[in-house]
Amino acid sequence: MLALRPSALVAALLCSFSLTPALAQKTYLHCGRLLDMRAAKAQPQTEMTLVVEKGRVVAVQPGYTTGSAADQVIDLKNKTVLPGLIDCHVHLEGETSKDSFLKELTENPADVAFGSLDHARKTLLAGFTTVRDLGGSGVNVALRNAVNRGQVVGPRIFTAGKAISGTGGHMDPTNGYRQDLMGLPGPADGVANGPDQCRQAVREQYKRGSDLIKIASTGGVLSVAKDGSSAQMTEEEIKAVVETARDLGLKVACHAHGAEGMKRAIRAGVVSIEHGTLMDDETMKLMKKFGTWYVPTITAGKSVADSARIPNYYPPLVTPKALSIGPKLQTTFGKAYKAGVKIAFGTDASVYRHGVNALEFQYMVEAGMPAYEALRAATVAAAELLGQTDNLGTLEAGKLADVVAVDGDPTQDITAMQRVRFVMKQGVVYRQQ
Ligand SMILES: [Zn+2]
Repeated sequence: MLALRPSALVAALLCSFSLTPALAQKTYLHCGRLLDMRAAKAQPQTEMTLVVEKGRVVAVQPGYTTGSAADQVIDLKNKTVLPGLIDCHVHLEGETSKDSFLKELTENPADVAFGSLDHARKTLLAGFTTVRDLGGSGVNVALRNAVNRGQVVGPRIFTAGKAISGTGGHMDPTNGYRQDLMGLPGPADGVANGPDQCRQAVREQYKRGSDLIKIASTGGVLSVAKDGSSAQMTEEEIKAVVETARDLGLKVACHAHGAEGMKRAIRAGVVSIEHGTLMDDETMKLMKKFGTWYVPTITAGKSVADSARIPNYYPPLVTPKALSIGPKLQTTFGKAYKAGVKIAFGTDASVYRHGVNALEFQYMVEAGMPAYEALRAATVAAAELLGQTDNLGTLEAGKLADVVAVDGDPTQDITAMQRVRFVMKQGVVYRQQ
């Protein structure tokens, strides 16, 4: 018999139905239509049962099966059931608002932490049972730990802690400040110049408990700096980051908008290019040669362009970058997909409001990716990028019991993913409606 874990208690308080799976020996999920996501082409199975025990799927059986009286049955007979979704690019600490830039100077870490609880809960209830948090102040490390302890409701988090770039680069936390407030941020603050400081910056993140490293090899849209796309780290610096991270068992994700910064990062061995807005044909060839993943974040691109049309939403340096770079992402994604670049689902949640991550599916399909492949990008592919294929990405015996369900058939209408009705993470039900 499983003990009732704190996460189950929190989930019970949140939801209006009685929650008992943690008390039951086994849970039997009766799935009207099951997409286990194992096959490269859609092969829906009808009238299947997922058997869940101690947080893992222990069997997938044809028909609607049941166990003993102590076991629980969950009826998803009129739903399509899929593996829990994975968003490979979120920032759970913050969320876009007109005063985002002021908040950096007024909020204490505890304020950030309380805000992040709401973002984490919304993300999980939208069906995203796992996320890669690609940078914040370090509160994201504490949030991951609190979720793992079952103290708060949220997705399973793989976090980059504080992201790294050079002085004045996209990740310099003092960009746009008054000069006497800028100080001299260094490797401990994610600001590194030269290979030695890059090695130190990676080791600082490792020491603080980051699961991976995030760098910015080019400028970015939302940093208060003039250029959003030119290269901002040397290849030597990126190599120092990647080699140090590799020694520590960490992968490196790289924010990049301009092609030169992408090429340097790909050659240096980063695992993923984030955004990739101005990716050219040569960059796509290089990504295929090196097996580099592309995480497109189309939703963020559209959202920053929309926000930039609201007068004074962003500081004056940011608005023109948001208008020129944002709208290009969907087209770039379409080209990269057609060129055969490996794609993992990621949205940059925080740049838009948390909990509507599934909009990205619609944008991917609009750009030419078949719906089933978009679903694979958020399951099998994302699990591969995370190095978690033993635990995540498909529904089969041995995997963690991360399960979502929607009405209708998302391979025919991908917008169904925006209305997730059922969410289970590691055997615990967080949403059933
Ligand atoms: Zn981001």
